[in-house]
Amino acid sequence: MQRTQLQETLSHTSEEMKRRIEMAREIGASNWLTCLPLKTKGFSLNKQEFVDALALRYGWPIEDLHQQCTCGSLFDPNHAMTCKTEDFVCMRHDELISKPPNQIVSLCYHSRTVKQCYLYLQIPGKEFLGPTTQLGYTPRYKANGFQFFLFSLAVFLALLIFRPVTAVELAENMPQILASCNILAMLLCVYLLVMGKVSPQTNDVLESRPILYEFYRGMEVHPRLLGVDVKQLTNCRFGLLAWELLVVAFFVAGWIKHGFSLAHLSCATLQTIYLGKFYWWETGYFDTLDITLDRAGYYICWGCLVFVPAFYTYSSYYLVAHPPLVSNSAAILILILGIVFIALNYRVDWEKEYFRAHKGKCYIWGYQATFINATYESSSGIRQSKLLTSGFWGIARHLNYVFEILAAFSWCLPGLGNGIWPFLYALFLTHLLVHRVFRDEEKCRVKYGAAWVKYCKVVPYRMIPGIF
Ligand code: NDP
Repeated sequence: MQRTQLQETLSHTSEEMKRRIEMAREIGASNWLTCLPLKTKGFSLNKQEFVDALALRYGWPIEDLHQQCTCGSLFDPNHAMTCKTEDFVCMRHDELISKPPNQIVSLCYHSRTVKQCYLYLQIPGKEFLGPTTQLGYTPRYKANGFQFFLFSLAVFLALLIFRPVTAVELAENMPQILASCNILAMLLCVYLLVMGKVSPQTNDVLESRPILYEFYRGMEVHPRLLGVDVKQLTNCRFGLLAWELLVVAFFVAGWIKHGFSLAHLSCATLQTIYLGKFYWWETGYFDTLDITLDRAGYYICWGCLVFVPAFYTYSSYYLVAHPPLVSNSAAILILILGIVFIALNYRVDWEKEYFRAHKGKCYIWGYQATFINATYESSSGIRQSKLLTSGFWGIARHLNYVFEILAAFSWCLPGLGNGIWPFLYALFLTHLLVHRVFRDEEKCRVKYGAAWVKYCKVVPYRMIPGIF
């Protein structure tokens, strides 16, 4: 009787539905409906997952599915399993049939998310050529930093609006997150070492040294991965973005746990302005020591993949467990001070960039820029350069570092009264930048020789006029 009814029903349905009903009748195909709802096995479905599972089973439309696949075609579960840019095409049939339908849908989302992370790197931007190395290699970048920053921040804020508890989860799972970053960073550093030794991408390769040193310093200055410069990827697209997203998350986590705090907001806002400024000026960063001198290895790549998310965010992280004690008026004062220091830091960097872009023919502080002509040797022969001696660069040789340190202290200040911990970042940065002054000056002395000595006579102080 039932068989006849089924035949009758099937005779009125489409071929597609017939096939689905046949599949649903196969032995074991309905096990997921009758099995114990064990969470560990993925059989505990919420309402939406149950609806999705039935939709998959009978070919009904699935709500909120992405419209388009990364390959450009329309996206649906059938397409996900046959498209070569999705991951299901390489799963064997039995493997796939044993997956609960809700897992298939969620895996679809995850595989897409990973690809979207990659697509992030493809955000439009003009091509930017970095400074040519001594050996004649000119690195190429996509100048899409600020768009990347805004887009990522907007997506993250939207996520926090819909699911604020993500912020608490991030704060509470920092050890696990950092452990994952660590594994990723170590794998990358090993890969860079092996590739640098076996198949370098440029001729600028570190000469043979003890292997630990090679691992630590890195082999190549400008290796590329996924078509992107490795240091742009680790420093700008991961480390500094993680810094930004984490400080926002820590502010929201603190808010959820202890209520709104203006001081914590000042702390997060200052870092957001600082990082926004960084991304705005990202092409200028390609001209700094991190990019032109440091090789892609443990020092810089591990530093950006692990140390930056862990340590640079620490002042904000500390406030999640120890709510700020400073008053609201003090918080506003800190915010204003911080903005002034960030603006001054930007201004110093900008003056040099502006001066270089105009080849010295420009006005700084309303006066014709003054400079010292310098020459240096490169693979293409003797080259000309200029050392600015007016504006901030005429007051001290590294005033940008001074403002950077003051800005860092300002976003640590909301932790005042909670011991030394909230200030660890600023103290570390002071040490890092003072050490960097010596590294940078040694580089310039070797590069420019007598012209650098002359510059040091004209501008005698390194950081603080009259003192150092
Ligand atoms: P600088 O921007 O000070 O750049 C130093 C280079 O500029 C020198 O190597 C030389 O390079 C050139 N230069 C030096 N003096 C002059 C001059 N008078 N006129 C023209 N060019 C000159 O340093 P960084 O690259 O280290 O820093 C850039 C920014 O990044 C700063 O704002 C700094 O505060 C920030 N920063 C932040 C860090 C953090 O962890 N938060 C770490 C490091 C930096 P050339 O060979 O081109 O002549």
